[in-house]
Parts: sequence; C-alpha cells; structure tokens
Amino acid sequence: MRALQLVADRRLELVEVPEPPAPGPGQVEIAIKAVGLNHLDLWGFRGMAFAKRTLPLTVGVEAAGEILRAGSVDSRFRPGDPVVMYGALTCNACPACRAGRDNLCENPAGVMGFHIDGFARDRVVMDERLVIPVPAGVSLVDAACAPVAYATVEHMLFDNAKLEPGETILVQAGGSGIGTVAITMAKAIGCTVITTVGGDEKVEKAKALGADHVINYRTQRFATIARKLTGKQGVDVVFEHVGAETWNDSLLCLKRGGRLVTCGSTSGVSVEMNLMQLFQRQFRIIGSFGAPLSAIPRGLAKMASGMTPVIDTVVPLADFSRGLARLETRRVFGKIIATL
Ligand SMILES: [Zn+2]
Repeated sequence: MRALQLVADRRLELVEVPEPPAPGPGQVEIAIKAVGLNHLDLWGFRGMAFAKRTLPLTVGVEAAGEILRAGSVDSRFRPGDPVVMYGALTCNACPACRAGRDNLCENPAGVMGFHIDGFARDRVVMDERLVIPVPAGVSLVDAACAPVAYATVEHMLFDNAKLEPGETILVQAGGSGIGTVAITMAKAIGCTVITTVGGDEKVEKAKALGADHVINYRTQRFATIARKLTGKQGVDVVFEHVGAETWNDSLLCLKRGGRLVTCGSTSGVSVEMNLMQLFQRQFRIIGSFGAPLSAIPRGLAKMASGMTPVIDTVVPLADFSRGLARLETRRVFGKIIATL
C-alpha cells in the first residue's frame, strides 16, 4: 500500500510500505479517503528541532475514511461505515484521560502525523476508542476537517473562551482553515464577528461566510478599526493563532475583562508584552492545543446540520506538498484536502 512519508526536512515521498497487521480485539482497519492539511503539517514539514520523531515518518494529522473490518465480532462498526479518527494516542488511564480531558493526557504516545506515523496512507489500524462515526449526509472530504480544524475551534470557542450568544469576537486570519470555521461557528450562535484577512480578494469571501466586518490587515491597522467598531470598548473575545505579528494588537482589541484564546504562532513564537495592561485590564489569556475527543462528534453534528467547512482546494495525495506550499504562502481561503 501507499504512504506519503517525510524523508527529510521539506521532502515528501509517496512510497510503498507493508500492509498494517490485521486488527486485534477492540481495533478496526480503516481505508483512508481524505486527509485535511493543517499548520501542524507545515511545522513538521519544515523540520522542528524540538519534535521527537524518527524519519521517514508518514504524514497527515487529520483524516476521514471507511471501516474495512473490525477485530472484534461485537464491534460497534461495520465495513463501509464512514469514520474519523482521534490522532493523539492518549493513555486512556491517567486522571486527565479519565476526566475526558484527553488533550491534557499525562502519558501521550504522540500525535499521529507529527511525532509518529500519521494518516496519509491507504490503510491504518486503530483502537476503536479513538474512532468516531461520521453522521449521515456528511461527505468524507468535509469530515476530514473534523478531528483537528472543527474540534480545535469548538474547544477554543466554547470550552475555553466560553463564547456566548450576542458577544463580539475578533477572528484573526479569517481566511485560514480554522479562521473560516471560527467565523461560521461564532455566527451560528449570534455573535458579531470582526475578522482580519491578508488580501482584498478575501474580503468578500469572509463577508459571504457571515463576518460582519472584514479588515485587510495588510492595508489597515486592525486594532484601531476593531476599537472604533466597538465604540472604543473592545471585543469580548479574540481568536488568535497568528502569533508574534498580531499578539499585542490583538490584546489592544480586547475589552476590559476580555478573553484571548490562542492555538498557534504561525508568525513567530516570542513576544514582549505589557504586564500592567494584562492585569489592569483584567484580560484572560487561554492557551489551547488540540481538543478532547468529545469535541469531534460535536463538530460533526454541526456539519450534519449544514454548517459545512469552506474547502479551498482538493488535491490528490501525490500533490500534498503543493497544498503545503499554498498554506505557507497564506493564499488559502478555507481548508485544503488531499484525497486517496
Ligand atoms: Zn492519559
């Protein structure tokens, strides 16, 4: 079978690898059909000094597929069932896992596609507890956005930032994969959405998605405009993932007592910040990484109710690096999916 492997920094190869072993009790074999690209793939592709991993490594951190066979006769899955997978190999035993806070697992065996072999291959064998059924009516291309993009945003907005109907939110990089999901999810509960984009061609697209105000951050100072739009009060929540380039201006956009939730640092990992502003204005800054498994069915249910992802491009698996290049140049609007 085929696997797309990172063989050196910035070099991917589609190679033949051995079939996975037959699924054991409590396991299922899945035929992968669609892989969603994420910034995490880009970090891995560029080479990360801190990432403990051995090359070659099969890439792909989120995917959707179909059940081929189950290792147990009493499995809850049948051949042909559409599924997505939770790609962090949690221990299922520590206090965090037992409390359903999987992304705080104390003994994770790694993130598939980043530390250990991922989903960009024809077939994979997984523990059933990490496999989630896809509801009827959701395509596998859309479902491939559920494990990372939808679950991450669901967790950031609702578990962490506790976004409420009627609040105002600033979504940074509204054209990105998670940015488009954040706009859609915030609008669905009746929030006012201000978003930033990196080009005029993305302004209309973000408005069509429901954003109330769209700012081209390359030509306008977003913090000034966001403050003006909120009558100098500031927004309730900022959705951050851009990092160093926008961090301090994102804080400037917050109202007193506002919440900033972040899951990324695309433009750089270090910033200098004003601590007096932090405590005097009583900001809450929340780091968010991945999501508990329970966020995935919540995201899939939203897709089934019509809240489908914005797909920028669908490419064949062999063109995965072309997709990464598109992510890297920030030309995307929505998600890039590789199909098998
Ligand atoms: Zn654990």
